[in-house]
Amino acid sequence: MNTVTRFAPSPTGWLHLGHAYAAIFAEQKARQNLGRFLIRLEDIDGTRSRPEYETALFDDLQWLGLTWERPVLRQSDHAADYRLALDELARQELLYPCFCTRREIQEEIAQAPRAPHGPDGPLYPGTCRHLSHRESQSLIESGQPYALRLDIEKATYRIGHSLQWEDLGRGLQTANPALFGDVVLARKDTPASYHLAVVVDDARQGITLVTRGEDLFEATHLHRLLQELLHLPVPTWHHHRLVTDELGKRLAKRDHARSLRTLREEGWTPQKVRRVLNLEESAS
Ligand code: GLU
Repeated sequence: MNTVTRFAPSPTGWLHLGHAYAAIFAEQKARQNLGRFLIRLEDIDGTRSRPEYETALFDDLQWLGLTWERPVLRQSDHAADYRLALDELARQELLYPCFCTRREIQEEIAQAPRAPHGPDGPLYPGTCRHLSHRESQSLIESGQPYALRLDIEKATYRIGHSLQWEDLGRGLQTANPALFGDVVLARKDTPASYHLAVVVDDARQGITLVTRGEDLFEATHLHRLLQELLHLPVPTWHHHRLVTDELGKRLAKRDHARSLRTLREEGWTPQKVRRVLNLEESAS
């Protein structure tokens, strides 16, 4: 089977060396195996995505010498697919509407004798999980905004066996899907959260090897569960190292000094980018 990889940037800022690493890494993994390299625009957050960042990112990737298949998948075109996935989870009675505001959640956590934490901070305490169907229906009808959360305990129980994944960087892994608690899978103004969109899209694009930074390693625990619940094919993963600055700090989009366009203006060549990132021959 030929490897299919993807690079999935969000058009919410200029690309930096960390993105260059992720994109070249994904392309090399596909090419090493006569496979296919795809791009996906993670533009589901309409409030932060901007057309000028989108134009700039394609320009940067071209400058780096990458080639990818067209058409590019654009998440904002696929709200209906995410809806179908949510419907399937709702059919399995694994979703519940949550009306809590951020502040209410913080207050509840502050009062709790013990607040379990996950990779993104304290876990949702489960307040709305206990609402009756009637109570939540009447809140929805009154126009209250809400998010859809996954009942993680019920979902894990439903699967009934342990889940694993093959990680080319770290070996065979056993998933702990409850790591993030009752995660939000959709909101009123966002048809799918990152976690839901990524599993639906990777399946839709036929991705066989998900390459991405180590910062998303934990997310894979949850993604395995979502794939299982939605009966999606299971890819292999390769979580790669993150590019850091001179102080060892991970590069972030707001770090404008290191955007690829700035480096270009300063006279960097694509060869220099690959050399600095140690990606000249094979990615590791
Ligand atoms: N859009 C994500 C990011 O920019 C990538 C998600 C993924 O590769 O799964 O970090």
